[in-house]
Amino acid sequence: MAPPAAMFSETATSVDSVPLKGDFAVKTAPIVQKNTSKTLAELADSWEHDFTFAPIRESQVSRAMTRRYFQDLDTYAESDIVIVGAGSCGLSTAYMLGKARPDLKIAIIEASVSPGGGAWLGGQLFSAMVMRKPADAFLADLGIPYDDEGDFVVVKHAALFTSTLLSKVLQFPNIKLFNATAVEDLITRPMPNGSVRIAGVVTNWTLVSMHHDDQSCMDPNTINAPIVISTTGHDGPFGAFCVKRLVSMQQIQKLGGMRGLDMNRAEDAIVKRTREVVPGLIVGGMELSEVDGANRMGPTFGAMALSGVKAAEEALRVFDERKLQNAV
Ligand SMILES: Cc1cc2nc3c(=O)[nH]c(=O)nc-3n(C[C@H](O)[C@H](O)[C@H](O)COP(=O)(O)OP(=O)(O)OC[C@H]3O[C@@H](n4cnc5c(N)ncnc54)[C@H](O)[C@@H]3O)c2cc1C
Repeated sequence: MAPPAAMFSETATSVDSVPLKGDFAVKTAPIVQKNTSKTLAELADSWEHDFTFAPIRESQVSRAMTRRYFQDLDTYAESDIVIVGAGSCGLSTAYMLGKARPDLKIAIIEASVSPGGGAWLGGQLFSAMVMRKPADAFLADLGIPYDDEGDFVVVKHAALFTSTLLSKVLQFPNIKLFNATAVEDLITRPMPNGSVRIAGVVTNWTLVSMHHDDQSCMDPNTINAPIVISTTGHDGPFGAFCVKRLVSMQQIQKLGGMRGLDMNRAEDAIVKRTREVVPGLIVGGMELSEVDGANRMGPTFGAMALSGVKAAEEALRVFDERKLQNAV
């Protein structure tokens, strides 16, 4: 396909014949501290006269972003734990793991540009988020205020829960969120009994993943990890991804399919059954309802948070064993 005309000008010399001159190594520009930081109080009322942004060259912006991103790709190509999906369950898992094990490299892969999954609002797009006790323990740990209504608590806006959790997770130095990136497949290794162990994920830009039907040969990237925790939510265009793949690769027979709404049964079931479904793959949150045929619970979110707490526990319980297996 020809490149877009506006971006391409034909020259007489072919690219191959142009000798490459100069040093092409990426250099870190020396930091010249011309502009010392100011406080907001110092900025006040200075807009007309003294105010100007510090100068920048456009390439500095490009390099500031790309250098960090490519460094992260390099660092996390071998991760300790990969979390698929940054919804309420995935983020809760990441929070617990980040706190417990600052020594582990944890990558979160989120298909959407905006992390948070379905937890920005409560039921029927209302603002408040209900959590049944004992999930208030998770809110207390995060320092999120709530109204105590006896057997359950209410956060005034679901977005307060999600934004607080997200901001804490992103501050852990050992956690990297790759958003706008979809998990397209799982890396597998054979086990002695003929089944497989999950040993990482196959990734692609989500926009590329969405165009495999109309563009060919857009190969993915990979991340190796002894533990993958899948929290991709309900079945849907992207949801329940890893467990659907387990069915298609004949590692589980079939999906139970999410059952009708029953708050009391559903939340206990999701938390209690959060587990390693096949070696190396832990499933939590609403994705699990598709495996086990568990009830849905509607707009009560305690099970998502505590399923994340349990997923982190399960991951650490099997981590050393899987890491040893993954070394060969
Ligand atoms: C039909 C429907 C029914 C619902 N019923 C309930 C209910 O019964 N109970 C309830 O609590 N909530 C329900 N919800 C709301 C909401 O989905 C969940 O509460 C909650 O957000 C689930 O949390 P989660 O972390 O398991 O998954 P989600 O919040 O859905 O997060 C999953 C995340 O994974 C990402 N993802 C998916 N596939 C991939 C992939 N291949 N690679 C990378 N990232 C991926 C998604 O972009 C998303 O951010 C429902 C929503 C819908 C649409």
